[in-house]
Amino acid sequence: MAKISDVLAAGTCFSVELWPPRSEAAAQRLEEALRELAPLRPSFMSITYGAGGSTRQKTHDLVIRLLKEAGPPPMAHLTCTAHTEAELRSMLAAYRDEGVENVLALRGDPPLDATEDLPEGDLKHAVELVELAKSVGDLCVAVAAHPEGHPLSADIAEDRVHLAEKLQVADFAITQFFFRVEAYLELVESLEKLGVSKPVLPGIMPITNVRTVSRMAELSGTEVPREIAGRVEAVADIPGEVSRIGVEVATQLGERLLAEGAPGLHFYTMNSASATREVYSNLGLGRLRRDGA
Ligand SMILES: Cc1cc2nc3c(=O)[nH]c(=O)nc-3n(C[C@H](O)[C@H](O)[C@H](O)COP(=O)(O)OP(=O)(O)OC[C@H]3O[C@@H](n4cnc5c(N)ncnc54)[C@H](O)[C@@H]3O)c2cc1C
Repeated sequence: MAKISDVLAAGTCFSVELWPPRSEAAAQRLEEALRELAPLRPSFMSITYGAGGSTRQKTHDLVIRLLKEAGPPPMAHLTCTAHTEAELRSMLAAYRDEGVENVLALRGDPPLDATEDLPEGDLKHAVELVELAKSVGDLCVAVAAHPEGHPLSADIAEDRVHLAEKLQVADFAITQFFFRVEAYLELVESLEKLGVSKPVLPGIMPITNVRTVSRMAELSGTEVPREIAGRVEAVADIPGEVSRIGVEVATQLGERLLAEGAPGLHFYTMNSASATREVYSNLGLGRLRRDGA
């Protein structure tokens, strides 16, 4: 089963996100993560794209390599910011011709260390990229969802309407990482009220570093609840303790999401497998995957 929409229709989906390495040391870390993630048998692996094209070839090459290795199906992220429509069409057609069946259609954000905004592209919003992808081929197209609202949205209700518009054309959504289960449940409920019941896969990021998570949360509009922030800040200088609490928090979050009927879990691995492996193990997902769930 290579289309993620089919995997989701067949049962619970557990996936991991990786990024293409930009240095020799990062390439080694990625190889290690791939080796350690393989026994978990993720339902799919999604590969990030540097908005504006900074990882264009690297994202493509990693996606094609994973496809050829015939493990979990890869999903290629693609962002429309700073690209012409012709460039996007040609990248989508190349994926289609090479047998890639899954694409995550995004607007794109400048990288964490960027000092300037990216130039606009021909397509202004992700929904236009979803439409373009669907016009290029028989692709399974996913979109991004923001449980606490996109940080640039003045109004959460309006953001939900835009998400519903994207999901009417796309096959499923993956959320930004979040810590409040209520935010996810409220997002799913608002979509249902807007007449959309496509699967929304919750994104989980086990905290491993206090500074990184604060910065990412700020940029993505995610609230780190005071209780969680307090716990990790109190042990910020004790090696291993932040990750231990991060795994505990992620395990509780995953447990509640699955109990509430989430269609699976998407792990932001940051190219390091250990926290994801521990949460998988705590939730008994390795056993579920071996049993064919
Ligand atoms: C699972 C996941 C993976 C990601 N991977 C990457 C990656 O690989 N590379 C990367 O650069 N970024 C990535 N991102 C981040 C993403 O690019 C940012 O969140 C970006 O700011 C918004 O992208 P989007 O696709 O949600 O945009 P959009 O859907 O275009 O939404 C952006 C804003 O525009 C508004 N909007 C949408 N449609 C309309 C409309 N028709 N009219 C008016 N306003 C509208 C929305 O409400 C929102 O405020 C990822 C995010 C997630 C959740």
